[in-house]
Amino acid sequence: MISMSKPRIGLAEKVAVWRQLSSGRLAQGEKVREFEDKFARWVGSSACIAVNSGTSALHIGNLGLGIGPGDEVILPSFSFAASANSVALTGATPVFCDIEPDFFTIDPLKVSKLITEKTKAIMVVHLYGQMAEMNQISQIASAHGLMIIEDAAQAHGAHLGGRPAGTWGDYGAFSFYPTKNMTTIEGGAITTSLEGVEHFARMMRNQGMIAKYQNEIVGLNNRMTEISAVIGITQLERLEKTNSKRIENALFLTELLSGVPGVRAPSVRPDSMHVFHQYTVIVAQDRELFRSELSRLGIETAVYYPSPIHKLPAFNQADDLEVTDFVSSHCLSLPAGPEKSKKQLEKISFAIRKVMGSS
Ligand SMILES: *Cc1c(COP(=O)(O)O)cnc(C)c1O
Repeated sequence: MISMSKPRIGLAEKVAVWRQLSSGRLAQGEKVREFEDKFARWVGSSACIAVNSGTSALHIGNLGLGIGPGDEVILPSFSFAASANSVALTGATPVFCDIEPDFFTIDPLKVSKLITEKTKAIMVVHLYGQMAEMNQISQIASAHGLMIIEDAAQAHGAHLGGRPAGTWGDYGAFSFYPTKNMTTIEGGAITTSLEGVEHFARMMRNQGMIAKYQNEIVGLNNRMTEISAVIGITQLERLEKTNSKRIENALFLTELLSGVPGVRAPSVRPDSMHVFHQYTVIVAQDRELFRSELSRLGIETAVYYPSPIHKLPAFNQADDLEVTDFVSSHCLSLPAGPEKSKKQLEKISFAIRKVMGSS
């Protein structure tokens, strides 16, 4: 079976965790600080605040921008529910927007139509590792005095016009969940150049404390552990290399799939770097049938995400978002992660050709 990517935990991570456990320093401390400095430098952001998940990064970031009851935040419905949860948890209203058919990221032309006096921010999601159309989004935001939030949970290292994910918005949120381009097991980070947001996030993740037992605001416990931080430091050392491999594999698979009827390979936005968190195609025929035939031929596949957020029971909105609805019922992610060999990718392409030819 050629399976979807599993996280790569090597000897270096095991040694780092063993050492850290033996040191007795387990909760947020020096290693978290070291990870923050290294991640900020890697991204090219002036500050990084590490937390216990990508969802916490978004939640705290939103609170730090002053988003709350009565506010609206425009975001794509085609994402993981955490994007919208982080808005709803502040008491603000998520307003769901459609996506661009070629890139699966928020459609700037449709964003403009959703702006009201209540709109406070636009949240973009760099889905599957592909940058959203940040040039147009930035223009719209500045024309209307809106803030920009980047959900960069899937986009470590992506950039547009040379400017990295996590440096376009008022803040960016990254996730280090095991399936992401790098992991700390559970973990997340806020990147920002706004000192006010940085200061707020450092307090909010730690009970609102500015120093020990000096609680300035009502806060959360969303701290990262030292164990997660040392895993993160080790994974970060490999990130450049694993990202390159993801890209190389994706481009090779796209080449192999060219000319196959009924399967549309992912497009890469011009002047950008797509880091292929997922390699996602659009399938013309019945997706479930296609999946089961591929599975029979030893190819595992996955669907991210089978339901747009606005149609999930938690949000339960009736609106039709044409492109979102189409993409969520026709998208299929193939196993093309950094550990895959050219031979495996050829086998995937061969299986797809076989299924397409016989149907
Ligand atoms: C993974 C993910 C999140 C949430 O990150 P967690 O670390 O799982 O909390 C948010 N948004 C997107 C797009 C994601 O893929």
